[in-house]
This record gives sequence, C-alpha cells and structure tokens, in this order.
Amino acid sequence: MFEEEKKELPLYNFHYRCTHLFRECKDCPKTSIIIVFHNEAWSTLLRTVWSVINRSPMENLEEIILVDDASQREYLKKPLDDYVKTLPVSTKILRTNKRVGLIQARLRGAAIATGEVLTFLDAHCECTRGWLEPLLTVIRDDRTAVVCPIIDIINDQTFAYIKSFELHWGAFNWNLQFRWYTPGGSQLVKRQIDPTLPFNTPAMAGGLFSIDRKYFYEMGSYDEGMTIWGGENLEMSFRIWMCGGKVQIAPCSRVGHIFRKASPYTFPGGIKKTLYANLARVALVWMDEWTDFYFRFNEAPNAIKHEQNISSRLQLKKELKCKSFEWYLENVWPEHFFPTRNRFFGHIRNVAVDWCLVKPDTKGISNQPVGLATLEPCIKRNVTLEMFVMTKEGFVMTDDSICLDAPETKSGPVAKVRIMACNGAERQRWSYNNSTKELRHVTNQKCLDVSDSSKSSEGLIIEDCNGEESQKWILEPVPWNNY
Ligand code: UDP
Ligand code: MN
Repeated sequence: MFEEEKKELPLYNFHYRCTHLFRECKDCPKTSIIIVFHNEAWSTLLRTVWSVINRSPMENLEEIILVDDASQREYLKKPLDDYVKTLPVSTKILRTNKRVGLIQARLRGAAIATGEVLTFLDAHCECTRGWLEPLLTVIRDDRTAVVCPIIDIINDQTFAYIKSFELHWGAFNWNLQFRWYTPGGSQLVKRQIDPTLPFNTPAMAGGLFSIDRKYFYEMGSYDEGMTIWGGENLEMSFRIWMCGGKVQIAPCSRVGHIFRKASPYTFPGGIKKTLYANLARVALVWMDEWTDFYFRFNEAPNAIKHEQNISSRLQLKKELKCKSFEWYLENVWPEHFFPTRNRFFGHIRNVAVDWCLVKPDTKGISNQPVGLATLEPCIKRNVTLEMFVMTKEGFVMTDDSICLDAPETKSGPVAKVRIMACNGAERQRWSYNNSTKELRHVTNQKCLDVSDSSKSSEGLIIEDCNGEESQKWILEPVPWNNY
C-alpha cells in the first residue's frame, strides 16, 4: 500500500509556486532523518518512515535512524528489526536500555548520524511531497539557520491530514508553554509579499526541524541535564537566536503531525522532576532578569530551581558570546507581551468599583482567551490573571498575546470593550493620563468606563470622557524582577 502511493502523490494544497521552486535540490546537503519514539503505534511509526522514503529525493537522503527509547511493546522489538531490513533506504535502529527521554534519545541518534544535516521528526508524522527540499535549501544557503516545516494536523481520531493555519509563528507564554501566535511587523509583511519565503520565528515547536550537523554541535546540541520531555525546544530557540543563528519556518515544507490531547506515556519521576526541571533550566540559563519573572509566577519550577546544576550551560553561553534575553525580546519578538523596564506591569484597578481588570477564561481560536473585558475583586496574591502590561505604544496586553480592544467608530450604540488577540492595530491603542487617571482609547479619544458600576460583570465600555470615578483607573505596579 505504501509503495503504491509513490505513483500517485497527493499535493495537499501547496502554494502552487512551491512545487516549481523546489522541484529538486541537487546541490543541497544530504540529511540523516532521526526519529525517536517511546511505545509508538506501529501504523503511525511506519506512516512516518514510509512518507520519508516515498517523498524525499534519494540524492538528499543519507539514512534513517530510529531511536527506541526503551519501549515495552513487543512489536517494536524483533518485528521492527526484521521489518526495517526490508526497507529501500538504509535504516538503523538504536535502543536505549532505560528510558532516557526524547532529548537524550535524539542526542544518541545524532551521535551516529553521518549526513551533513540532521533532520528530526516525531514518530507520528506524515511528510508531504516536496517537504525536504525547502528545508535543505535554507541550510545550504545559511548553515546557521535552524529550519522547521509548517506543521499540519493529523486528526488523532480519523488520522486524516488537515492543512493548518499558515500565518502562525511559534513563541511562548508567561509559563514558558510553547504557543502559536500571529506574527507581527516585518515577518507578516514578508509572508504577504512572498508566501514561499522562509520567515523568522521566535521559537520552534521542537519535534520537527533540520540543522547542519556540525553547527548542531558547535552550538551545544542539547542541554543534557534535561530529561524525558519538554523545554528543549525553547532552550534551543533561545540559544540559537541569542548566540548568532536563526530559527525559521520554510512555508513550502509541510509535514503533518498527530497532536494528542494528552501524553500517552508516563513521566518517570513525575512532572516536577522532568518538565518543570527542564523549564527551570531554560529560565536559569537563558532568561537573565526574566528568570525572576518566571519563578515569581510559576511556583512548581521555583520550588526545584535550586536542584539544577547549570554551570556547563552557563559556560557554553559565555564561550559562544551570546546576546542577552532583552536583545532577544526586542529584536526577535518585538510584539512580545512580557514586562520590560519601560513598560507598566501590574494591576489595573477601577476607582469607582475598586475591582481589577481580569483576563477572561473563555478560549477562542488557537486557544487564546477572548471575551468581554470585565472586572473582578482584586486578588492580592501574585496571580497573572489580573496582571497587565502597558507598552509605550499604548497596548494593554496580558499573557498569551491578548490585548484590550475597542471599536474605532466614534458614535453609535454603547461600545463594548473586548479582550482579544493582539494585532498591533490602532483600535488596541490606549493612553493613560497619570493626573486624570483616564485610560483613553487613542483613535476616538473616549474613556474606558464601567457600564454600570453596580453590575461590573456586564463588562467595560468606552464613553465620552466625563471625569467620573468610573472612568478613573489606578495602575498598580507589581514587581517582576530584582531590580
Ligand atoms: N519520546 C521519547 N521518549 C520519551 C518521550 C517522548 O522517545 O520519554 C518521543 C515520542 O515518542 C515522540 C517524540 O519523542 O516521537 C516527541 O514526543 P511527543 O510526540 O509526545 O511530544 P508532543 O508532540 O506531544 O509535543
Ligand atoms: Mn509528537
């Protein structure tokens, strides 16, 4: 069945120019494909392997390396050994003798790889026709680029291949969870001018990417202190950007991935010793004064940060003469919603009601919170649901890239104020007057107001400015770093 597919390949709605631009890449480097797995299903693993074989130009394919991270399932042992011997591409299987996690499993695969480029894939992917050439082209032209495909969605119930939203780039929220957001500024313009060009991304999802093999090691491969799962994608993204490389998405390369609702396997030692420890390491090594911000608002990683020995990673950072996290935020991700020294960060409290602006907990597309802007009794504890950033440009933003947003129309019925995805538009700009305590919507000069001070759950509106207490706001700063 897999072999037959070779004759009739589906195209999955590529941008038509991609097919012509990347017909072949004879002068591209060869790549080793490294697939790590723990208790993966036979069908999804083989779908990944066969899609690589069927849809990669043989002249660009060095080998496939499967790293079995101590799977217990019988079919992944001798039956898999026997099966790979029949494959038309050199395929090696490595096995760890105890569970080491995806970071160390990938390192073991990389250690025996001979291709000039390393391409990592999760074990439940489908590479589409033409997926590899755009990735290798980027690296041929710039060996310091770490490049990812656009990741499409394979439905975890039907296994159907579904095209995902293209105008996304990768970043992260205040809890260091990886998130897809809509890029702003120059990267968005670049996409609109030529949707086939690779574009920069602040972070990568982690499972699917290509990197020059020697560059991978020059830059410190992975943090070997990380175990099992998580955080390594941010660690690599920060490191590559801050130490002189770049992380990009090549939009002509598309690979499907099964996104599962929960991890199908155990986390030996629990999530504290694995994911949170990995994230604590990311924050300790790379985030400078935002390290403190992360730990102030993330108790679990904070509790175990002292157990981390990160000296070799700090040494690496010094040797590579890496730039600061501030540089990263300003230059790689200028649309970010983290506090900075020249931004307000804290509670926004209404004088009349004495309640605070709060982030809604309903989720919109791409899982971002959206809804009416409402007030709730102010919480004294450090909860991020009531923390907002106000930038010099006047954006009132909070975690997960959401912003205070009001309609631009000058007159008409009551204008409700919403909380929705930040988009850099004028309708999301506000100005705060420290003496009148008004928060004015910049485009129409109306004031942020409580619709009815007795019923603040109805949400906020913008009204003609009238000097009433319901239009007065106190910006209460909350410390976020040690300075
Ligand atoms: N994996 C592994 N060892 C582990 C955990 C994960 O080899 O301890 C493999 C897993 O089988 C998959 C890849 O690492 O091929 C990424 O993990 P997963 O797909 O669970 O991550 P997600 O895509 O959900 O972020
Ligand atoms: Mn996966």
